[in-house]
Amino acid sequence: MLLERRDFLSSLTLASAATLFTGSSLLAATAPKKDKLGIALVGLGYYSTDLLAPALQLTEKCHLVGIVTGTPAKAETWKTKYNIPDKNIYTYQNFDRIANNPDIDIVYVVLPPSMHREFVVRAAKAGKHVFCEKPMAPSVADCEAMISACKSNKVKLAIGYRCQHDPNIQAYMKVAKEQKFGKVKMVNSAAGYVDNRTTHWKQNKALGGGVMGDMGVYALQGARLATGEEPISVIAQASTTRPEIYKEVEETMMFMLDFPSGARAACQTSFGINMNHLQINYEKGWVKMEPQSGYSGNKGSMSDGTIINFPIKSQQAKQMDEDCLAIMNNTDLIAPGEEGLRDIRVVEAIYKSVKSGQSVKI
Ligand code: NAD
Repeated sequence: MLLERRDFLSSLTLASAATLFTGSSLLAATAPKKDKLGIALVGLGYYSTDLLAPALQLTEKCHLVGIVTGTPAKAETWKTKYNIPDKNIYTYQNFDRIANNPDIDIVYVVLPPSMHREFVVRAAKAGKHVFCEKPMAPSVADCEAMISACKSNKVKLAIGYRCQHDPNIQAYMKVAKEQKFGKVKMVNSAAGYVDNRTTHWKQNKALGGGVMGDMGVYALQGARLATGEEPISVIAQASTTRPEIYKEVEETMMFMLDFPSGARAACQTSFGINMNHLQINYEKGWVKMEPQSGYSGNKGSMSDGTIINFPIKSQQAKQMDEDCLAIMNNTDLIAPGEEGLRDIRVVEAIYKSVKSGQSVKI
């Protein structure tokens, strides 16, 4: 009888401990160190299907263990293709239960941008580290809420800026850092492709569409990474050649940035033009990249004859492995939430400038 009572009391203590600590922090405290972290992809659209899931077959520090989807048919296909157990398959509604799943260490949010904030915050509250696709969110306020949720839940937040993990991009970042050709004078940066879809989220303002957040962040990153500086002002102009498709959001955005050192950048992004290049003119030389933000094959040259052409097996696999190592070793991420926020701060200023027709301070 006494023993039974003691058992009852100890199970009570455990139960109240479990309510005091979230399920996930209890699990984290007792979990053995893993060789590979478990990733759950949220949103099984194009990028998850064609790029991230295949890359997760090549990663060494993480693997695909879970999915979150609103489409039962997709759950069936993924379950079979990637051998995902039923217990690791969630819907958008029951997603928060992921907190009690020790298989899943990282939640990778691959949804339309307007949904990033909600799912990043829910993942953080569930005690999971978070990877979030670009653009981080439609507003600075969203980005700040996401960073704060991850900080207060003591989880890391990485933005899916795959290019920053690419040695070809790192090569021109190094030129700025080392001032190999002196100061940067002028950057020309462009990223665009022809998108003929009419009802996708990219054409929908409420879902976070518009070319600026989508391809525009690559043009912007080109300028920011080429100078190694943050812009202090911007003047921008939006336009469309297909108002029947681009009713709510811009088809093309052109923007000019001023940097503290005096460097300037002319940037273009479009859903109506195939373009992807970067030219950096320094005091004593130049660097040209084309393409500058492809999934593969980014390459370029420098005025002193240096060729930038480092082969890379999978940008996304490298990105996820490096971000996982930062989580495992508790070191700095290459592109944390703060880096996503830096871009969105400029994106907000760009839209302000379009509205006012004036230059906007950042
Ligand atoms: P997609 O439209 O192909 O997929 C979006 C997914 O979200 C789908 O599975 C869809 O079912 C789901 N979804 C849930 N609610 C939705 C809603 N209300 N409206 C629309 N879709 C909804 O988009 P995608 O191209 O895979 O893009 C997803 C994210 O990945 C975006 O943030 C995008 O910018 C990013 N992305 C990044 C890269 C990169 O190179 N880093 C490339 C492509 C896309």
